[in-house]
Amino acid sequence: MRAEIIAVGSELLLGQIVNSNAQFISEQLAELGINVYYHTVVGDNPDRLKSVIEIAQTRSDIIIFTGGLGPTKDDLTKETISSLLNRRLVTDEQALSFIKDYFTVTKRTMTTNNLKQALVIEGSAVLKNDNGMAPGMGLKVDEIIYMLLPGPPKEMKPMFLKYGTDFLTKQVGITDRIESRVLRFLGIGESQLETDIEDIIDSQTNPTLAPLAGDGEVTLRITAKHPTSEGAQKMIDEVEKLISNRVGQFIYGYGATSVSVELYKLLSDKKLTISSAESLTGGLFQEQLTSVPGASSVVKGGIVCYSDEVKTDIIGVKKETIDLFGSVSEECAKELADKTRSRLNTDICISFTGVAGPSELEGNPVGKVFIGISIVNQPTKVYEYQLKGTRESIRNRTVKYGCYHLLKMLKGS
Ligand code: ATP
Repeated sequence: MRAEIIAVGSELLLGQIVNSNAQFISEQLAELGINVYYHTVVGDNPDRLKSVIEIAQTRSDIIIFTGGLGPTKDDLTKETISSLLNRRLVTDEQALSFIKDYFTVTKRTMTTNNLKQALVIEGSAVLKNDNGMAPGMGLKVDEIIYMLLPGPPKEMKPMFLKYGTDFLTKQVGITDRIESRVLRFLGIGESQLETDIEDIIDSQTNPTLAPLAGDGEVTLRITAKHPTSEGAQKMIDEVEKLISNRVGQFIYGYGATSVSVELYKLLSDKKLTISSAESLTGGLFQEQLTSVPGASSVVKGGIVCYSDEVKTDIIGVKKETIDLFGSVSEECAKELADKTRSRLNTDICISFTGVAGPSELEGNPVGKVFIGISIVNQPTKVYEYQLKGTRESIRNRTVKYGCYHLLKMLKGS
């Protein structure tokens, strides 16, 4: 089965929005074991849309459209497909009553163009839109499967997950369950991870393993096919065990988590409080940790100490330390962490000092970073990094690595 995704919208061609829908649908199709061969983007123009559909019909078995299902004149996806397939547009009564209810409940006046959203291609399975008005559609004509999805991601994604995948698996005849587990790694690069488990990756066809590098971290998706969910999970467990035996010390979490979330969970379990002294990260650590619901039980506060005066006058770093070693130094990171911890009376304090760039500082190159971790009744540790990348990525990775070391220290590994 060869699939093609056609994203419709002039905004995409103008660079005003990124085609994230294609990325999402591709990921989902990969999980279903369906190969995507083409991504096409076309503007809101019926002739050009018609011609890309005609090309897709010659090379794809599944064509998935996203965008152009709305009420306005330039929304022309279903009109163009219906005329090309010689199928009428008919009113879907369920969609129509949903739209009418929506206007009654919100006390807004319905305009006639809203009725257009209840039109579906004759003979298609209607995919309900739980988050908007335009329904999606799925149909098979001359051995080609067509699926029409709305453009807004908050409508498209739940529709695809809740109704679209069912439609596709039935049409394509997929009977196996496909289940995935994502392992998250920190402290190991993508190429090192791949080298360490190369033989496992190469020998696996089911489950399959897909490594993916993010900013400062690597994820590994394990995907298994089996007639039952339990069977698929068991197969995933077995492969995960093999991987853990080699690189388990770098796994920090599973699925849609983040290092800040994992840190929050551990602090909360151990009933520990934390503060921070942030120079180059400017409060990013605090921002990430406090965005986790419940953070107030572990976070007491922090000090953004961008200038030397704040480091010395507010936090209490010795002036001699800065004169002798500079503010970007192991000694300064250590004092920042120790002094802030006692000043804010917390069990732990983490400090970040370094050069985010774009210019070097006090003779230190861009990307030189020191992370200090002060934990009550433990010797304070300082980690040094020489990072590469943009200012944003240096700041992001500094926070991630800080959380990672803290997690490791708290777990005693
Ligand atoms: P609406 O009912 O809102 O008009 P629609 O199905 O007609 O929905 P479009 O008008 O094409 O969809 O797009 C609506 C919005 O959805 C866009 O402004 C954009 O924010 C988002 N969107 C559309 N296509 C994509 C895409 N391929 N990737 C990411 N976002 C998209």
